[in-house]
Amino acid sequence: MAVPAAPVSFAPALAELDAHNLRRQRRTVRRGKLESAEIELDGRRCVDFCSNDYLGLAAHPQVVEAFIDAARIHGVGARASHLVTGHQTEHEALEKELAAFTGRERAIVFSTGYMANLGLARAVTGRDATVYGDQLNHASLIDGGRLSGAKLQRFPHGDVAALEQQLAAQDSGTALVLTDGVFSMDGDLAPLPALAATCSKYGAYLAVDDAHGLGVIGETGRGILEHFGLSPTQVPALVGTFGKAFGTFGAFVAGSEDLTQTLIQRARTYIYTTALPPAVAAATCAALSVSIAEPWRRERVLALTRRFRELATAAGIPLGPSETPIQPILLGSAESAMRASNALLERGFFVAAIRPPTVPADTSRLRITFSAAHSDDNVEGLVAALPEILQPE
Ligand SMILES: *Cc1c(COP(=O)(O)O)cnc(C)c1O
Repeated sequence: MAVPAAPVSFAPALAELDAHNLRRQRRTVRRGKLESAEIELDGRRCVDFCSNDYLGLAAHPQVVEAFIDAARIHGVGARASHLVTGHQTEHEALEKELAAFTGRERAIVFSTGYMANLGLARAVTGRDATVYGDQLNHASLIDGGRLSGAKLQRFPHGDVAALEQQLAAQDSGTALVLTDGVFSMDGDLAPLPALAATCSKYGAYLAVDDAHGLGVIGETGRGILEHFGLSPTQVPALVGTFGKAFGTFGAFVAGSEDLTQTLIQRARTYIYTTALPPAVAAATCAALSVSIAEPWRRERVLALTRRFRELATAAGIPLGPSETPIQPILLGSAESAMRASNALLERGFFVAAIRPPTVPADTSRLRITFSAAHSDDNVEGLVAALPEILQPE
């Protein structure tokens, strides 16, 4: 006789989250002056220090115009997946621009960065493969490894020697190494030259997700590869997203003709989903052009970052090694991160508390991000507010 199923109750698990200060909460945002970082959060005015709009392009007039114009011409929805009739002239044009921007044979546009990573990891591996990932990789790379069906091995953050030992112990099958370029919660850089050398030594395939580096670091904003002077041969697969520095939505994988052909044949998150709205592709093309034509935006966000680090250091606030616009202040417990975030909001600054499972246990933090849309006053005001809210109770 069948045993009756237990009644489904979500309440205990939710109460458990509350007990540990781990319940996540959405806040409703209304934008104020479009090109500034001032927002209204649940009705309260504050300065947004959590957005990934590093170059302030999300509301740039040329980007907005391109979006509206393309929507008038093509409509809103893409109407189908890329392999049916969803792949339109706007997507094709964007892919050409991205290939040129990254200096690679070809680029393929995905609907999100999350999907790009899932699709890539599965497409380039088989069941006999092993996927290696940095322990602090973005969740989408971790899930990409998990869902690929390959064996998954994590290596300690930035530890190339540990990766080398793991690679040396693998006796058969493809090896795929996945890493963030700029780590999304810490802002530090992957040791990419050493990773590339080790991958080349063991014949492993290296894919870098430079979601937070593209548009921001490197002499001309080409990201971590430009920063380190690495070639496409050294790092054969590059993932980028549009929802960060480019201020729009979507993502891409750039690489050789064969890699991109393989993605078209095998990446399930590419094949079985509706193409990005063509107007988003057009807006992204415009954002890419603006990022090149207005290098002051990159210089500005990096100058604000340096200014913040100087002022914060002078005020005795402990910072990590990050020199990118992602500046975490580690607080340890989820409770202290929540308390600090709420106290900052009362003073007119919104910095989200980042807690497990987004970051490892006991490394809850305030994750501050800067944007070219911030004013000097915004940054100075934030630093002035920090010492008081970081006082231990
Ligand atoms: C934001 C982010 C993604 C996900 O990109 P979406 O387009 O927002 O899905 C992937 N990788 C990294 C490192 C990210 O920071």
